[in-house]
Amino acid sequence: MNNGYFGEFGGSYVPEDLQVVLNDLSDAFYKYKDDPEFNADLTYYLQEYVGRENPLTFAENLTEYVGGAKIYLKREDLNHTGAHKINNTIGQILLAKRMGAKRIIAETGAGQHGVATATACAMFKIPCTIYMGTEDMRRQALNVFRMELLGAKVVPIDAGQGRLKEAVDAALAELVKNHDTTFYLLGSAVGPHPFPLMVRHFQSIISEEARRQILEKEGKLPAAVVACVGGGSNAIGAFAHFIDDKDVRLIGVEPSESAAINDGVPAVLHGFKCLTLLDQSNNPAETNSIAAGLDYPGVGPEHSQLSVSGRAEYVPVSGHEALEAFQILSKIEGIIPALESSHAIFHAIELAKELSPEESIIVNLSGRGDKDVDQVFNMLKK
Ligand SMILES: *Cc1c(COP(=O)(O)O)cnc(C)c1O
Repeated sequence: MNNGYFGEFGGSYVPEDLQVVLNDLSDAFYKYKDDPEFNADLTYYLQEYVGRENPLTFAENLTEYVGGAKIYLKREDLNHTGAHKINNTIGQILLAKRMGAKRIIAETGAGQHGVATATACAMFKIPCTIYMGTEDMRRQALNVFRMELLGAKVVPIDAGQGRLKEAVDAALAELVKNHDTTFYLLGSAVGPHPFPLMVRHFQSIISEEARRQILEKEGKLPAAVVACVGGGSNAIGAFAHFIDDKDVRLIGVEPSESAAINDGVPAVLHGFKCLTLLDQSNNPAETNSIAAGLDYPGVGPEHSQLSVSGRAEYVPVSGHEALEAFQILSKIEGIIPALESSHAIFHAIELAKELSPEESIIVNLSGRGDKDVDQVFNMLKK
């Protein structure tokens, strides 16, 4: 799977000047990823700042309500900043520091990656600029304010639909312009090599913990691991340590309004090849998920390949269904999930019904839903 390809997917389709920057990044990543001092640093911050390890909670009420397989929740929502994104942010910023970066730039969709990046930059005292589409800024106004409180500069991007895709374009352009001083901290398992591998590496802590935790609690592996898929970072992190366990089903849940794996075709997007939603003129399609973090026309190259090879399954869940799961988990477990994670919860409920009570399912609860309460309030009133 190296040189950045996962089957036909992945790679690096970028101009020469950007390729030079990515080669340096790749060298630094391979140099430090197994370096004991680097990893001791990473572990320190994951424990003391992020709050790892987080629990694998048995959702007893939900299990009883569904009446099937036991449902376990991997609690990424309990991380500092409320989602899985901080795992990757801390990892990349430690790398950026070792590479001598003077400033960090990042794109953000829902605002979660922007908040996680601004948070880490505040702690590590590195100036931070976040690119964000104007439509996403409107939908996630509180996260914009949060990033500013944390000391980041938020640059509005008005191009196209004013969403994540346009923010990525702007950040890549800035990286090429100022690569001497700038480290681009990419927020999902997408983009040109080495980003998909690097983000997977830093997110695989999720399944490293979850695999051990489920063996402690159940004495055997789960029947399935279920995670929502936007770019694919929480899902690949949740799958990574189970990929060799052939009996464990790996299930990615896409929003049906933005289902790159279910509805897409192979194409190059943002410098890498993946399954992509295209419109009639073969441009990346407009997407429309209720979850801003899932609103991306492409998907990580490794997921594209896991789908083609059949090792993982990818199912669509609608915004309407996710909204139902959002309310169910809130009401019966006392946990308000992110709208993104609610897609995975909906599918896990459907799946649990088909399985026996002897079996278990792990759902990656990628984030908490506090950021979405305002939006859900407006949707339920209409
Ligand atoms: C950003 C985000 C996602 C989607 O991103 P992935 O890279 O696909 O994981 C999912 N859940 C939450 C809570 C997010 O913030």
